[in-house]
Amino acid sequence: MKEIVVLSGKGGAGKTSITAAFAALGAKDLVLADCDVDAADMHLLTAPEIQVEEDFYSGKVYEVKTDGCVHCFKCMKVCHFDAVSHIDGEFVIDPMECEGCGYCYQVCPTRTIEMHPRLAGKFYVSNTRFGNTLVHARLGIAADNSGKLVTKVREEAKKMALEQQKKYVLVDASPGIGCPVVASLTGAHFVVMVTEPTVSGLHDLSRVYELIRKLKLKSGCIINKADINPEMAGQIKQFLEENDVPLLAELPYDVRFTEAISQAKTIVEYDQGALREKLVKAWEEVRELTDK
Ligand code: SF4
Ligand code: SF4
Repeated sequence: MKEIVVLSGKGGAGKTSITAAFAALGAKDLVLADCDVDAADMHLLTAPEIQVEEDFYSGKVYEVKTDGCVHCFKCMKVCHFDAVSHIDGEFVIDPMECEGCGYCYQVCPTRTIEMHPRLAGKFYVSNTRFGNTLVHARLGIAADNSGKLVTKVREEAKKMALEQQKKYVLVDASPGIGCPVVASLTGAHFVVMVTEPTVSGLHDLSRVYELIRKLKLKSGCIINKADINPEMAGQIKQFLEENDVPLLAELPYDVRFTEAISQAKTIVEYDQGALREKLVKAWEEVRELTDK
């Protein structure tokens, strides 16, 4: 079983449309993992029927009990995040402001502050309309443990793929190069970088590629909306050539991408012409390069 990760340097480059197209094309061979937990939207195109729903806990949350407080104000004084307030004679910790450092808990002389696991989000395993499994998650409000949730989604997707004897796990990663992306990438077998022909597109691509190179991963690139700026598309192709990165596809700007999404379809279902053909070829090449 091999893991293919689709990512882009920033949001809006078409990463999810392309991942969903691959998910439709390789349906019977893969388990899909939506690791873009901050903005999970794979469910919009896959119409998942939820089979498993679990709370995901990560980090700690602190709460002042009503009894036992001697009103020493120590908790309020030590909190660097102004999370402790004194309201109507009682001390209250705002869970949205609390960073979970535990300083107040340590200094409280009466052990009046309680520590609980923090509910960081929800985690799901679903059946999709493609007849495969989607592992996905939703990060809670103000929860900043997306790296851990991404790791949980990946691990569960790999477990499902092994159980179901699937060839691939296809991962839709978060945009950027932050902690959730690193959590999506480490140990992957192939990475599909999706970019746009703009100055920032090339800049983001080079940062993402640097990360991929450091992690010693195989990769290829899809230039989306390649015709909106042929000169920049040329510079991106030059960058790919210099770094020996295969160009998997050049996709034109096409309103059918958004039309497909508005009808909750993938582009390879919505378009039966040249766009579909390019994505079929790209998916075949991804599989070949992954299996090498
Ligand atoms: S755990 Fe840390 S951040 Fe939260 S209230 Fe206590 S001192 Fe402030
Ligand atoms: S540190 Fe403990 S005892 Fe002191 S004010 Fe805070 S909750 Fe009350």
